[in-house]
Amino acid sequence: MPNIIRVFVCLCTLLSQQLFADELKKVTLQPSWFEQFQSAGYYIAQEKGFYNDVGLDVTIKDYQFGSDAVQKINDGEIDFAVGYESIILGKANHKKIVILYALFQSSPLVLLSTKASKINSISQFVGKKIMTTNNDFAQASLKAMLNSNYVDLENVNLLPHSHNINDLVNKKTDLISAYISKAPYELDKMGVTYNIFDPKDYGFDMYSDFLYTSEALIAKDITTVKAFKAASLKGWQYAFTHITETADLIFAKYNEQNLTKEELVFEGKKLKKLAFFNTDQIGEIDNNKLKRILELYKVLGVTKGNVDFTQLVFDEKNPRLILTAEERTYLNQKKQITMCIDPNWLPYEGFDQQGKHIGLNREFIDIFRKQLPIPIEIVQTSSWSESLQFAEERKCDLLSLAAKTEERTKYLNFTSPYLVTPRVLVTKTHIPFIDNFTNLSNKKIGVPKGYEQEEIIRQDYPNIIIVEVNTIKDGLEKVENGELYGLIGGLDTVGHLLQGRFIGQLKVSGKLDEKMEVGIGVRNDDLLLLQVSEKLVNNLSEEIKQSIINNSSAIKYKEEFNYKLLWRVLFVVLLLIAFFSYRQWLLTKLNKTLNKKINQKTAALQELNESLERRIKERTQKIEHSKMLLQDVAFKDNLTSIFNRHYLFEISPMLLTVSEETQTPLSLLLIDVDHFKKINDTYGHLTGDNILKFIVKNIQAILRADDIFVRFGGEEFIILLPKANLEESVMVAEKLRLSVEQNNYHKNGMDISITVSIGASQYQHTETLEKLISRADLALYSAKEKGRNQVKKN
Ligand code: GH3
Ligand code: MG
Ligand code: MG
Repeated sequence: MPNIIRVFVCLCTLLSQQLFADELKKVTLQPSWFEQFQSAGYYIAQEKGFYNDVGLDVTIKDYQFGSDAVQKINDGEIDFAVGYESIILGKANHKKIVILYALFQSSPLVLLSTKASKINSISQFVGKKIMTTNNDFAQASLKAMLNSNYVDLENVNLLPHSHNINDLVNKKTDLISAYISKAPYELDKMGVTYNIFDPKDYGFDMYSDFLYTSEALIAKDITTVKAFKAASLKGWQYAFTHITETADLIFAKYNEQNLTKEELVFEGKKLKKLAFFNTDQIGEIDNNKLKRILELYKVLGVTKGNVDFTQLVFDEKNPRLILTAEERTYLNQKKQITMCIDPNWLPYEGFDQQGKHIGLNREFIDIFRKQLPIPIEIVQTSSWSESLQFAEERKCDLLSLAAKTEERTKYLNFTSPYLVTPRVLVTKTHIPFIDNFTNLSNKKIGVPKGYEQEEIIRQDYPNIIIVEVNTIKDGLEKVENGELYGLIGGLDTVGHLLQGRFIGQLKVSGKLDEKMEVGIGVRNDDLLLLQVSEKLVNNLSEEIKQSIINNSSAIKYKEEFNYKLLWRVLFVVLLLIAFFSYRQWLLTKLNKTLNKKINQKTAALQELNESLERRIKERTQKIEHSKMLLQDVAFKDNLTSIFNRHYLFEISPMLLTVSEETQTPLSLLLIDVDHFKKINDTYGHLTGDNILKFIVKNIQAILRADDIFVRFGGEEFIILLPKANLEESVMVAEKLRLSVEQNNYHKNGMDISITVSIGASQYQHTETLEKLISRADLALYSAKEKGRNQVKKN
């Protein structure tokens, strides 16, 4: 009895969904602040109809001071919310939230002091007043910045935030927490000069403005979640490429704070930088970076909880099935799902000699299996028509790769299709191309038995004489021997056979308008199973589908062996080998002379080394002495493990002073990898990262002990060369450049050549580090201009 009721309830829900399919689905969004550019993407998606286009009716809620959005999302009171890095703590406290994307790759939250206050360093914060909100100081970034500079929160006076920048100017407070995208604008306008204390500059680089939702909503309606995410990102893309237009819109319609257009444009530009900081992929999330944020919270003593980041982050590439309680109970009771397949439909699927399910659909089924708590068992059949019969007799719950036909709806429901391929007509080679199928009147055309095409073809082309064949292969044989005029089948399947057994005999000579679209057939007396199956299909991203289809070796046809081509290729290869050997010989010769010169110089410099080395060592030891994790985070680059820019700023004042005092030269090299974007684009970001590590190893091998090598940011590095003058530093640079050029990156059969451009500059009396870098930067610019892979000095 209860089963019948359940089926009835489900039927009603499905029916009502069907009846009101055209109606928009209502969802709510909770922004993280009052109306300003910070929510621009959502306003744009709303006003430009991006949400409506994907079937959503979105209510953007007002910001409410002090309201706990994480809790509200967890409780299902709101559907989507924007939150700061501290929402990770929510997850550590077992709130059921899921992050969809991180909008800002670096947090806009900073502390400001006026120049007039003379507060120029964090150590001066002790005893000072800091105006801030609980929320701002709940972020790991601000806390960590203070702690890593040995300032404890106990030793500063926190004041409640008035959100009035005048309180900073009028000295009501010494410091204020603010967004880098807003407050600087107001201060500039007032002509007040200020200092920015940005956690990022101290090594604490955070995300901000996560879009998140609840596990429950994903379980119930993943399509809505995906649609909301996509439309919002589209809104952001638009907002950042049309900043002025967007500012106008916010000014006119979303302006509870009475901001000026200029202010909004300023904010938009700053936020765009943060959104595309170190990435060109809007919304990107790196789980390792999230992990570091959580670790930081732990070091700061804020949480002890653990987080499974694969559950926290919504990853379309590695889908996770989130089930409702009802679905979970149902599956657990069901214990296993049975599935019938088409035994004769390679490359899509079939059985091998051992009766194992093979073909590209096997990969899809494996993806489904990974997500399900219970197994999918394949039921052996010997033909597609037997599979259909089994499905009808309920000997299998699912029928794989099934298209919807009227006949089949008597016993099956269907998920959305996930494989789409054109349907084609195959004939003998001499038959001309057929673009109008009505010309096939009274011709005998084969159609594999039991395939849904038969019904459709009968309907659309009543004059064709349809002949059922057992398998596509049988059909093609009949076309070959003239029994049939042609055969209709899916392009991939017939293509597979045409390239093998029937090559030169048969060809594709026409394409039908209808495509073949197949999904999963689900026994129609089990609506919960349909619900779960639909979720599995919806979880497949386009990327996954494409990669399975593209990588399927079964779809790649065998080529006939072409000896002519082989000889040509061999000839070209020989030519290339000859060319490269000659080049290698030249390069080695050049390298030898360079080495000799550098060795001479090094000997001359040896004696000067000692006093300087000692001082640098002392300083380095002091810094490395502290084993605190915070220090580590602050001075080490996470990817390459060499020092980061903060270390450079920390150590350089001393180096500049030594250079002044001892009248010894000091030079700087600014290295930038050439066309690195292209490398990322071609081989992927991960390989890009590995290449950066590889370059660092390569360079490290050449440097001396007291050279200071830092990752300045992205694919830019700086090397400080104590006691080297400009000419000498150019020689070192040339050596580095050559070494990078000569050492290709090899992995998994890849062979990637890399080059760098280098700008060199020598420290001049009284100049600042910034000036020294900017002169090297000019040189680097000219090296790039001149065609890259070279060294220029300034
Ligand atoms: P060129 O310097 O020769 O003008 O060209 P480019 O392609 O290297 O241009 P640009 O210096 O502007 O771009 C640097 C790119 O490096 C941008 C970013 O995608 C990539 N990048 C920055 N940091 C990282 C990183 O940590 N890992 C990886 N894989 N890529 C990074
Ligand atoms: Mg660069
Ligand atoms: Mg570059």
